[in-house]
Amino acid sequence: MSDGPTYGFDTLQIHAGARPDPATGARQTPIYQTTAYVFRDADHAAALFNLQEVGFIYSRLTNPTVAVLQERIATLEGGVGAVCCSSGHAAQIMALFPLMGPGCNVVASTRLYGGTVTQFSQTIKRFGWSAKFVDTDDLDAVKDAIDENTRAVFCESIANPGGYVTDIRALADVADAAGIPLIVDNTSATPYLCRPIEQGATLVVHSTTKYLTGNGTVTGGCIVDSGKFDWSANDKFPSLSEPEAAYHGLKFHETFGPLAFTFHGIAIGLRDLGMTMNPQAAHYTLLGIETLSLRMERHVENARKIAAWLEADDRVDYVTYAGLPSSPYHDRVQAQYKKGAGALFTFAVKGGYDACVKLVNSLEIFSHVANLGDARSLIIHSASTTHRQLTPEQQEAAGAGPNVVRVSIGIEDADDLIADLDQALAKASA
Ligand SMILES: *Cc1c(COP(=O)(O)O)cnc(C)c1O
Repeated sequence: MSDGPTYGFDTLQIHAGARPDPATGARQTPIYQTTAYVFRDADHAAALFNLQEVGFIYSRLTNPTVAVLQERIATLEGGVGAVCCSSGHAAQIMALFPLMGPGCNVVASTRLYGGTVTQFSQTIKRFGWSAKFVDTDDLDAVKDAIDENTRAVFCESIANPGGYVTDIRALADVADAAGIPLIVDNTSATPYLCRPIEQGATLVVHSTTKYLTGNGTVTGGCIVDSGKFDWSANDKFPSLSEPEAAYHGLKFHETFGPLAFTFHGIAIGLRDLGMTMNPQAAHYTLLGIETLSLRMERHVENARKIAAWLEADDRVDYVTYAGLPSSPYHDRVQAQYKKGAGALFTFAVKGGYDACVKLVNSLEIFSHVANLGDARSLIIHSASTTHRQLTPEQQEAAGAGPNVVRVSIGIEDADDLIADLDQALAKASA
């Protein structure tokens, strides 16, 4: 099928990037379980290695199954190209890699997935990079944090641990004015609920591990490029605008135009960092994406019902779900997240730490796991698990106080989930 702009989301989530297998006619995208690809002749091989012709060389760089997934996610996000890799965290490193160098920094939202906070505050220092964390609702603070060594602004659309949505348009304007790209982690929203590129983002990253795959089977990541950023407008992005020694002085931006970032991600990023997605993982994620819109609708519908039920319950202190009318972000949801505020939120249980532990232990349908975005409903008590090593003040700041649990609402029957929470809250408050 040719992916005309006239097709709707539900059509594109099934067809974009895929065509019947040219060799066999196989209708479903085959798993091309191969490491290497035979060159037609020596000239063909030379042209591929010189980036003069696009094709398959070796599966650390490209693979036909993974390529279908890349095109599908790029299409759903409204980008020009995408690079898949082995996990969401790999995607974040791969997104920053062409932009950063020793001494460079990224200005990042304080409201991020815990693992990203660790990656940005600790691990990237080993590359000579650093992160400055700011409250992205305070646009002046974002402007103040950007200095001459800042190479990107980073946020999540619907942010962890839930209950917060970012004003992407406002943040994109600040990044634009500074001549740097805005990178949006769109994992919790998915392109069904939010399309950051339409709001001005330059790059979108995903943990495909979560909603895109949708059933907790494989880890994966993806970086989507809007193709709209002028990498040559200033001297901040030499990896994309200056000659690349490893390709005989080729300049990525000059040669590949709007696809510069995507080509760099494959030809340098995957080639040398090797954080490659395998074709089995791409297959599972392709299957998942076929039902993305249907699942997201049910995730949101269930989350709305359950958040409202919890908010009205005496055993619960408060619920932070941006989809509730009581949320301070309700207006922003109405304006920028019209299809809903996702299915990730936290609630505070009267009785504090001990009640939370009892609640988690008593649930029967909800699974106690460190994951989100599964068809199954999931719960975690951050203070006794992922945020255990933090001080009480740090836990509080991260929205992971001792009295708070985070839920990722699945697509089961909402009434069953409510009954499960009801019986577990009864035990927790006994
Ligand atoms: C899970 C997650 C990540 C990390 O992804 P992995 O696939 O686990 O490496 C990054 N951002 C968000 C919002 C996530 O939920």
